[in-house]
Amino acid sequence: MVAFTGAGISEESGIPTYRDTNGLWTKYDPSKYASIDYFLQDPSYYWHFFREVRYPLLFESAQPNPGHLALADLERTGKLRCVITQNIDGLHQEAGSTRVIELHGNTRIIRCLECSKEFTAEKVYEMTETRIPPLCTDCGGLLKPAVVFFGEQLPQDAVHDAYAEAEACDLFLVVGSSLVVYPAAHIPVRAKECGARLVIINKEPTVMDTLADAVLNAKAGTTLPQIIATPAPQRNTPKT
Ligand SMILES: [Zn+2]
Repeated sequence: MVAFTGAGISEESGIPTYRDTNGLWTKYDPSKYASIDYFLQDPSYYWHFFREVRYPLLFESAQPNPGHLALADLERTGKLRCVITQNIDGLHQEAGSTRVIELHGNTRIIRCLECSKEFTAEKVYEMTETRIPPLCTDCGGLLKPAVVFFGEQLPQDAVHDAYAEAEACDLFLVVGSSLVVYPAAHIPVRAKECGARLVIINKEPTVMDTLADAVLNAKAGTTLPQIIATPAPQRNTPKT
């Protein structure tokens, strides 16, 4: 089994997204703070946003929910090979998943654009107390969160691995994704073409529902633990 997760599972842990319409986030424009072109032009905009919404603290207070934990359990029992995720919050790893393919990067890691040195978001938060934009302590280069901004390519090794897993699995389980953006809109199709069953758990209907073998319009945090707790039906064994 391979799981594919999207924003739906993170939302259940209280992770805000740029689609959120309330709070501090509306003060900042995602077409600026999440765009590579704008970032290179005016990196301070992103770092003011990062500082004002107290970005690392947001993620610190968000905990993996029962949906994340259920996927980690499935990996431990050998039924799940990996999680492919569009999320950037690192909650799968925190829940105990060890094989996570991150299509959009990870927001808890900040990387120097010159020398690739990595910093934690907490460390960089401290650095922004004295300087915005923060600069690499080794080479003075510009720092950028290790996430895919609008206008950037997805990490090609992650995309390659995601396809390889989709092509080899028996069951492709979508959790909390509406499957509209590339490559989310194509990986499940590829899994199906290669013979996998497709199961979709999402609060709303998705464009892929007609292709799926089963669709559950439900929350991941309540549904996944129930599925795992349900014992598999026993095959009838002839009495001797
Ligand atoms: Zn550097």
